Amino acid sequence: MKFITKYKSENYDIRVGEIKFIILHYTAMKSLDETIKHLCEPSSKVSCHYLVTKNGEIYQFISSEKRAWHAGDSYWKAIKDINSLSIGIELENSGHHIDFEEYTSNQIYALMDLIKDLKIQYNIKKTNILGHSDVAPLRKMDPGEKFPWHILEKNNLVYLPKINKFILNNSPNQDDIEKYKINLKNIGYKLPKNDHNSDYFIKTNRAFQMHFQQDFISNLPNFNTIMLAQKYVEEIID
Ligand SMILES: [Zn+2]
Repeated sequence: MKFITKYKSENYDIRVGEIKFIILHYTAMKSLDETIKHLCEPSSKVSCHYLVTKNGEIYQFISSEKRAWHAGDSYWKAIKDINSLSIGIELENSGHHIDFEEYTSNQIYALMDLIKDLKIQYNIKKTNILGHSDVAPLRKMDPGEKFPWHILEKNNLVYLPKINKFILNNSPNQDDIEKYKINLKNIGYKLPKNDHNSDYFIKTNRAFQMHFQQDFISNLPNFNTIMLAQKYVEEIID
């Protein structure tokens, strides 16, 4: 693959452990120039390995062998140092707090080519390709509900649970919610025991929906949300 390598970031250190995740982000900035500057200037203390632009160009700032600083305080399946075990890919998009425009097809096809290569090179599992919001749901919403996970799934790059969706007249009861929470934990999310209306549960639920139920983003799950999580746990054996 062709990468643009004229910009380098020194915002990295040494990995502790082997690569097993790819974490997807949006840049949340207005311009590409601003983004590149931010990811490369030492004072920002953030970086990523790759940046995929709207026109499908890919910048590489840091070797995949190094530990880039993109995930921050994060968690997945009891792993806390996600940066050590992941490759961070930024997608040029202004994000929820600005315009949150659609991702472009050039961008998504370039991203998929990159993921195909990385998956083979590092033997990364479909279920270990995650959004920043999956590993840091309290702080982050990227890449957001407009990110087309279904296109990656069609190209055999990621896993998505599929269910026959129901038209819903009622809401899940407390038992359903408790089972859903257990499933979220088994999938990989961090979820301490607490009231289901808490901020933590709301944001984790929204992170799950932004990834797996993009047509229904809400503070609480509906029955389809709960069935999707159940299906995930039934189908995926790690
Ligand atoms: Zn991010």
